[in-house]
Amino acid sequence: MHMRLTLLAAASALAVLAGCASVQPPSQALIHTHAPAKNIIFFLGDGMGINTLTAARIYAVGEEGELTLDTLPESAFVKTFSNDAQVTDSAASMSAYMTGVKVNNNVLSMSSDTPATAPALDAAGNRLAGRCATGRPVATLAELARQRGMSVGVVTTTRVTDATPGAVFAHVCHRGMENDIAAALVPGGAGYNAALGARGLDVLLGGGSAHFTPSAKGGKRSDGRDLLAELAAQGVRTVADSAQLRAVDTSASAPLVGLFAAHDLSFDSMRDAAQQPSLPEMAGKAIGILANNPKGFFLVVEGGMIDLALHNSNARRALQETVVFDNALKAAIAQMRAIDPDLKNTLIVATADHDHSLLLNGYARRTGKTTPAEPGVLGLMRRVDNNEIKLDADGAPFTIIGFGAGENRVRGSRGAAPHLTSAQVSADDYRQEAVVRTEPGYETHSGTDVYLGAVGAGAARFGGTIDNTRVFELIKAAAGW
Ligand SMILES: [Zn+2]
Repeated sequence: MHMRLTLLAAASALAVLAGCASVQPPSQALIHTHAPAKNIIFFLGDGMGINTLTAARIYAVGEEGELTLDTLPESAFVKTFSNDAQVTDSAASMSAYMTGVKVNNNVLSMSSDTPATAPALDAAGNRLAGRCATGRPVATLAELARQRGMSVGVVTTTRVTDATPGAVFAHVCHRGMENDIAAALVPGGAGYNAALGARGLDVLLGGGSAHFTPSAKGGKRSDGRDLLAELAAQGVRTVADSAQLRAVDTSASAPLVGLFAAHDLSFDSMRDAAQQPSLPEMAGKAIGILANNPKGFFLVVEGGMIDLALHNSNARRALQETVVFDNALKAAIAQMRAIDPDLKNTLIVATADHDHSLLLNGYARRTGKTTPAEPGVLGLMRRVDNNEIKLDADGAPFTIIGFGAGENRVRGSRGAAPHLTSAQVSADDYRQEAVVRTEPGYETHSGTDVYLGAVGAGAARFGGTIDNTRVFELIKAAAGW
């Protein structure tokens, strides 16, 4: 106790030396030694649970290596349950981060009493707009930033109308209403989210052009609107491939919308680099534009394809996407340090919205990183003592990585099935075995807590085990809002 008081007193003295204008009570002294965060970047690895993070680290840099995520100085565990579900979906989890309110699964940034009503489908399979039975929109961090004159951006590898990006700027009672989510982005048009101000988002990069394009032009809009044409008519810069994105002048202040695919972008390892920029490229361009605003900015960067690979119980692509996400984080930290060397005015938070059922089976020998010649953590389990392939109780080899749920489950004895080979389990599209068999592509989320890391102004506020709604409060507090 005495030691603690002494440390706090020392911290208070340091705070005074550092020029804090107001005298803070001792318990607040440690977290008020920095100015409010003017620039806020929220990195969200969709479905990037802790098992996936550990596997991605081993995959990329070996057991002893460090991802950038591992180097963030502050960290916390985040509880992810939603208003109605032990296991959240991305809509409810991102809504909690963006609004501080627990919503029902499938709902985007509405009050807790909003039922996830699934509106009727039109001929093209889109969910039609409909009033929510009850409930009201609740303000998002992006809207709060906009009210303060800050710039706002969203970057993702999925459709920009998917649940995670959508929760940043739209309020709908079902995530399937993607045409409405797109319409929320067009200032002055029907369905625009006026809480984004006269200007709308400053930067929007990802996939999902189908929801901006009328069905007559091959898109998914049955209302005939061409939202990209509407945006361009308002002076928004629109780009559609990597070269056009690279040519964008970041010193100009006009908003930028870049949609590089009709639906989700490709997995990074399969990406046509001429057509689709990488997540680090998109995030870098976004920061370049947003950082022009002297009042600061709020940017969300989502690694959305981690989740899709995990739903396919395809560990290799999930780990590759996690590494790309980590590379985007690394590049963003370096880019911000070039502007703000000690991150005195910049808060960077990186977390996930929920876990998945990916698991790491027991007693694997160390593998080191994955190389073209060595499968590493993607390989078959080997004995620690003699490096022999380890067999299960049925006498069959098995992989280090498995899934709790997924499409590949051997029915009957694994011993009677053809034995797995290293070449087979190392393939790009190999789907690891699961305990519970699902339909193809329907591996499930899980309710385990997720990791949150933070660096920069206000990062020290993050610690312990916190609810996902608390993240909203802590970001606001760090920003001094
Ligand atoms: Zn998912």
